[in-house]
Amino acid sequence: MKKKNKQYAVIGLGRFGTSVATTLYEMGYEVLAVDNDENRIQEFSDQVTHVIQADTTDEESLIALGIRNFDVVIVAIGENVQANILTALQVKEMGVPYVVAKASNSLHGKLLQKIGVDRVVYPERDMGKRVAHNLVSNSVLDYIELSPELSIVEVSAPNKLYGKTLMETDLRAKYEINVVAIKRGDELIVSPLPTERFGAEDIIVVVGSRNGIEKLEEMV
Ligand code: ATP
Repeated sequence: MKKKNKQYAVIGLGRFGTSVATTLYEMGYEVLAVDNDENRIQEFSDQVTHVIQADTTDEESLIALGIRNFDVVIVAIGENVQANILTALQVKEMGVPYVVAKASNSLHGKLLQKIGVDRVVYPERDMGKRVAHNLVSNSVLDYIELSPELSIVEVSAPNKLYGKTLMETDLRAKYEINVVAIKRGDELIVSPLPTERFGAEDIIVVVGSRNGIEKLEEMV
């Protein structure tokens, strides 16, 4: 497999860290996976580029790993909040340009933000929201919260839209939502023109306010 340039390090091989590391590796990136548990390391040995056993709360270990040379570091240590924070702080201080850290609650998330983590993720909370939206409306295929007010949703196009052009539906003015893509069979129409007409089986990807998206979910 041809390797892409960006180098990633994933620290903490729980379910979340494992999934991030193997996905990046499958996408062709170089991935270093780190965990202090020897058993985890052994299970993982052939699934990423390198696997190293280290306690990342220890500065010397981070230096030995050459962590500052990575473009992106993902701190996926979960239960041990102290280890998560100490690792994130040191990795950021060593100058890694983009650090992602998993937070277990909003207070933990705030702290991570204060120490300069570039992106805080809440995998359990976010997945819970996605599942809930999907349960409430069968037509919601995927849901990603960008901020408390703004989300991206992939949804089966409501029947009401069928046969109308994007301009005629006036979704932007009426619902404060923008259609960013239309999936039609194997075809993906990105940034559709105002003259694009909705088909019966279309799936639409929209970005919009919480209000607008709720109205769209109700419309389906
Ligand atoms: P998930 O929900 O993703 O499964 P979790 O929240 O249960 O994860 P843990 O299992 O607590 O997370 O931690 C993830 C991994 O981080 C574990 O494999 C653990 O060995 C590793 N880990 C914990 N502390 C450290 C540390 N100081 N240095 C390196 N790895 C660590």
